[in-house]
Amino acid sequence: MQILKSVIDWIFPDKCMVCGKDTEIGSLFCSECFGNIVFVDFPYCRICGKLLDTSYNNELTCKMCQNTERFFEAGRSLFLYNNSAKSIIMRIKKEADEHVSRKCSQLLYNRYENFIEKADLIVPVPSHFSRILRRGFNPSMLISKYIAKISEIPMDAKIIKRIKRTEYQKNKTLQERQENVKDAFVVNKNVKNKRILLVDDVMTTGSTISECSKILREHGAKSVKFVTIGSTMG
Ligand SMILES: [Zn+2]
Ligand SMILES: [Zn+2]
Repeated sequence: MQILKSVIDWIFPDKCMVCGKDTEIGSLFCSECFGNIVFVDFPYCRICGKLLDTSYNNELTCKMCQNTERFFEAGRSLFLYNNSAKSIIMRIKKEADEHVSRKCSQLLYNRYENFIEKADLIVPVPSHFSRILRRGFNPSMLISKYIAKISEIPMDAKIIKRIKRTEYQKNKTLQERQENVKDAFVVNKNVKNKRILLVDDVMTTGSTISECSKILREHGAKSVKFVTIGSTMG
């Protein structure tokens, strides 16, 4: 058994999802990186799923969800979007790391099985085709593919198309972000009465996800929820 384990270790060493160093088999993180990973847990916003700090006392909704119109019903994320979570997402975004994508999808599914299982259809948040051309793939598609496989819920990546090449949202105010993604998407197919699960890598203000939800709802979707790998603090 020990020999077999060493052989497996040697052929398929498990790698830390953050730094990429070899870890013990079955481990997601090395001991150093494990200390820096923050799983989203209670208390989190009951709408967007962001982690809430102690200033919220017993409030269950983040400031953004209290003050902004949200077109999605609810969302959940796996990790707080800190530097470690950023490294994980970069592995998916820059390297199309199948191993990390699969692990993140499995973690999302294990953690939010009931939430995910209520959907009829999985839809990745689309990238503009020029970005797909440059990268060769759409990162949210990789995660969607594995969640669809694990949950056996069908996925359709062609439902929403990004028609406007939006500028990067980083360093923009909420209002600029909302303006930036406005009319950036079209819905191509019939989504009437469907319960849709959007999948993306990160949620910051939620402007992109909300805009996608809005257009899906306008086309008759019954509800729109989302999951992401990371989300910022609520
Ligand atoms: Zn590590
Ligand atoms: Zn919220």
